[in-house]
Amino acid sequence: MSHTAESVWTDCLSFIKDNIKPQAYKTWFEPIKPVKLSGEVLTIQVPSKFFYEWLEEHYIKLLRVALVRQLGNEAKLIYDVKMENNYSSNRPQTVKIPSSNRDPLKPQRTIAPLESDKRELRNPFIIPGLQKVKIESQLNPNYNFENFIEGDSNRLARSAGMAVANKPGGTSFNPLLIYGGVGLGKTHLSHAIGVDIKDKYPDKTVLYISSEKFTQQFIDSVKSNTRNDFIHFYQMIDVLIIDDVQFLSGKAGTQDVFFHIFNHLHQNGKQVILTSDKAPVDMQDIEQRLLSRFKWGLSAELQAPDYETRISILQNKLYRDGVEMPDDIVEYVAKNIKSNVRELEGVLISMIAQASFNRREFSLDLAKQIVDKFVKNTKKEVSIDYIQKEVSKYFDMDVATLQSKTRKRHIVQARQLAMFFAKRLTKTSLASIGNQIGQRDHATVLHACKTVDNLTETDKQFKKYVEDLTKKLTF
Ligand code: ADP
Ligand code: MG
Repeated sequence: MSHTAESVWTDCLSFIKDNIKPQAYKTWFEPIKPVKLSGEVLTIQVPSKFFYEWLEEHYIKLLRVALVRQLGNEAKLIYDVKMENNYSSNRPQTVKIPSSNRDPLKPQRTIAPLESDKRELRNPFIIPGLQKVKIESQLNPNYNFENFIEGDSNRLARSAGMAVANKPGGTSFNPLLIYGGVGLGKTHLSHAIGVDIKDKYPDKTVLYISSEKFTQQFIDSVKSNTRNDFIHFYQMIDVLIIDDVQFLSGKAGTQDVFFHIFNHLHQNGKQVILTSDKAPVDMQDIEQRLLSRFKWGLSAELQAPDYETRISILQNKLYRDGVEMPDDIVEYVAKNIKSNVRELEGVLISMIAQASFNRREFSLDLAKQIVDKFVKNTKKEVSIDYIQKEVSKYFDMDVATLQSKTRKRHIVQARQLAMFFAKRLTKTSLASIGNQIGQRDHATVLHACKTVDNLTETDKQFKKYVEDLTKKLTF
């Protein structure tokens, strides 16, 4: 084997790059230097303690997967923290990446099995313990009530969540549906409820799952003829949290199976918590009988936080990260980022990173630069109209041609590309994409997406189309 620290790290990086946002990659991975490789132990140098903690908190799973791919199951990572004032010697801080999961009681440290050693587990979340079979909750302990800042914008949802956590299945808030726009805290709040329940009722089986994953598991179970196992598994849960149910739009099979699971849980006094980006009345392509169930309990909205709440959220975050920032800068950020808590945090993270790399003080100037970048980036929202226009322009045709019923190959391809990008870049359902791109049905859109995937793999020219259009549509 001719691995070197460099070569191993380069390969890890290319894997990591594919799995995170470019900005995050630039911020957190580019500054790392590989320093040493001995056996399965790679040493990397990171610029500061803060930096290493950040990696540990946010990217440990990804790092582990990347490293295990290169160095096998025994892979270990050592961080060498570059000391800022060199009073203590340059002794590396050792942090191991756990190479096995012996302690099933610590879910936050468990790491999903890698592709290669995926075992045949019937129930997707059962992890084998010593005596007892335990279901891994998939909860993130960092999302709790304590750090979910209360404000007018979220008071109802937050207190309903707390009520549910005190008496899961025992309030009239069943199901509890939390809805609101992106980045307003739906995922955070739904975890917080689960975390609190686990705390108060350790014996209850709580499960958090995204609708996407739920759908995928259901499809897999149909393929492998284990649909009943799938249903039974979910019917065992005491508190079921399903995130982003709008994703079930147009998926009749998954909705059907969820309907049965829901009824079973509800009848047995089990708690169901759902989140969605829309209120039930505005949900499209969700079966009526399911919608009416959603309305049984309480629908609570998360609204955009007001100025005071934004300030509190920022201050709380700074406090937790141990960072001090002058008030006028915090106020500037809160005044300018209004509609999304994730962005509010994003600006802070960028500022902290910038300041710590470039050894810069926080300044209003820096804040302005970063806020500007965020505001610009989020303004550019891609619509299906825009996609159709750009794709047509690229192929030198007009939108009417792209939408027409013709079967001419180059027009069909252009249409399929438009559908593919609509699926990829917007949150619109397949049915609605079909509707907007020449009155096709959802199956046609699905077929288009698959065809584009296939052609991208096999046809160089076509791949170039996809790359060109990606650039046009996303930059
Ligand atoms: P959504 O699921 O609605 O898109 P998230 O739950 O992912 O939003 O929230 C986005 C980010 O904002 C998360 O990091 C979350 O911790 C943070 N956040 C949202 N609301 C609050 C709040 N009230 N207090 C503290 N942090 C919040
Ligand atoms: Mg979410």
